[in-house]
Amino acid sequence: MNRIFFRFFMLVMLSITAATFVIYFTMSRLFGDPLEDIARRQASAQIFLIEQYVDAAPTDEWLTRLNRAREVSDTRYDLVTLARARTFLPATSLGALERGEVVLDVGNKSFYRRVDLTGERYIGSDDEVIHARNLPIDIGLALQMEAVRYVIVALALLAPIALWSRAHWQGLQTLSRVADEFGAGKLSARARMRSSRSIYPLAERIDLMADRIEQLLVSQKNLLHSVSHELRTPIARLEFALELLHDRADDPALRARIAAMEGDVTELNSLVNELLGMARLDSEQALPMQSVDLGVLLRTVESGLPPGAQRLALDCPDGLGRVKADPRLLKRALSNLLRNAQKYAAQDIRLSARSDGSRITIAVEDDGPGIPEDERERIFEPFYRLDRSRDRATGGFGLGLSIARKAVLLHGGTLAVEASPLGGARFVVTLPQG
Ligand code: ADP
Repeated sequence: MNRIFFRFFMLVMLSITAATFVIYFTMSRLFGDPLEDIARRQASAQIFLIEQYVDAAPTDEWLTRLNRAREVSDTRYDLVTLARARTFLPATSLGALERGEVVLDVGNKSFYRRVDLTGERYIGSDDEVIHARNLPIDIGLALQMEAVRYVIVALALLAPIALWSRAHWQGLQTLSRVADEFGAGKLSARARMRSSRSIYPLAERIDLMADRIEQLLVSQKNLLHSVSHELRTPIARLEFALELLHDRADDPALRARIAAMEGDVTELNSLVNELLGMARLDSEQALPMQSVDLGVLLRTVESGLPPGAQRLALDCPDGLGRVKADPRLLKRALSNLLRNAQKYAAQDIRLSARSDGSRITIAVEDDGPGIPEDERERIFEPFYRLDRSRDRATGGFGLGLSIARKAVLLHGGTLAVEASPLGGARFVVTLPQG
C-alpha cells in the first residue's frame, strides 16, 4: 500500500513541480519575469521618487532635488558613469538602460537609470546613471508564499490520493490472495468483490476464469478416475482368462505368447493402479497427518527398497527432528525418488537430510545421466518421460515424479530437481519442520 501510494504521490508532485517551472518560464517569455515584477512593485516608491519628484525639477535644480531625496530616504542614490553601469548589468538589459528605462538588479536590491538622454540636467548628465541601492526588495517573501501555496496543494492532494490508493490496494491484495490460493491448489478460491469496487470488472473476470478452470480440472479428474476404475474389472477378467488359457495350452510357443500377454496385462494393471492413486491424491482434502520422526522414516524407506546393484549412502544426522506428515504418502514420494535413482544411477546413490530449524531438506541424488536443464520442470508432468527408448527399458509410465510432487505439495513442501555433484540428478524435497 505504502509503495503504491508513495509512488503515485511522488509522480503527482513531480508533475506539479514541473508544471510550476514551465508556467514560470512561459510567463517570463511572454509577459516578463514575474519575480522582477514583484521587485518592481516593492521598489515602486523609490522609482516614483526619481520619476515624479527629482525628474520634475526645473533645469539646474535636478541635482539639488536628488540630494534632498538622498537625505530623506534610506536608499542610496549614487551617480556612476554609463560605461561603469554597463559593466554591472547583463547584456540583455543594456538596451533598456540606453533607452532611459529603470533597469532592476533584483539580486543586489538595486536599480540603474540614466540621468537623461540629452544632457539637459547638468553638463555631462547624458553620460551618467543613477544607481539606487538598498531598495526594500524582498523576493524571499514572495518565494516563501509560493512554497506555502505548493505545500497546501500537496496536502490537499495527499488525502484523495491516499483514499484512492487504499481502495485499489485492498482490491489488489484480494486478487493476489486468490491467485496464491488458486495456484496452491485451492480451486474454490474466489475474489467475490462488491460491484461498487473500482477493480470489480477485473475481479469478476478472474472469478469467471477460476470457475472455468475448476470445472475443467474437476471433469478431467472425474474422467481419469472413472476410466481407471472401469478398466479394473475387464483387466481382472483378462488376467483370470489368461491364467486359465496358460494352464490349458500344450503348445510351448502358445504358452510363451500367453505369458507375454500376462506380462502386458500386469503392466496395464499397475498403470491403472498408479492412475487411481494419482486421482485419489488430487481429491485428497485433509491428510491423516501425524508427527513423524524423519530419521526413522528415511531409514524405513531405505530398507524397504528392492535390492539394487548400486551403493546407497544414507547421510542423515541424528536428531533431525520431526515433521507433520502422512507417513504412508511421504514414504511413497521418497521411495519413488529412490527407485528412479536406482533405475538411472551408474554406481552411487545418496540419500541425505538436513534441518535449518524451520525447514527440512531431503536430497536424493545419483551419478546417472541427470536431467537436462530445460526438462527439469516438465519431468514432473504426468506421463512425461525423457528418453522414451531408455525408459521403456526401465519400465516406467512417467507418473512417479508427478505423484511424488503432489504428495510433497500436500505436505506444504516443495520438490525440485537440479544437478548433483555426483554427476547425475539431485531431487530436493523441502518440508516445514513441525
Ligand atoms: P517413470 O515412472 O517413467 O520413471 P517418473 O515420473 O518417475 O516416471 O520420471 C519421469 C522421467 O524423468 C523418467 O522417465 C526419466 O526420464 C526422468 N528421471 C526421473 N528420475 C531420474 C533420475 N534419477 N535420473 C535421470 N532421469 C530421471
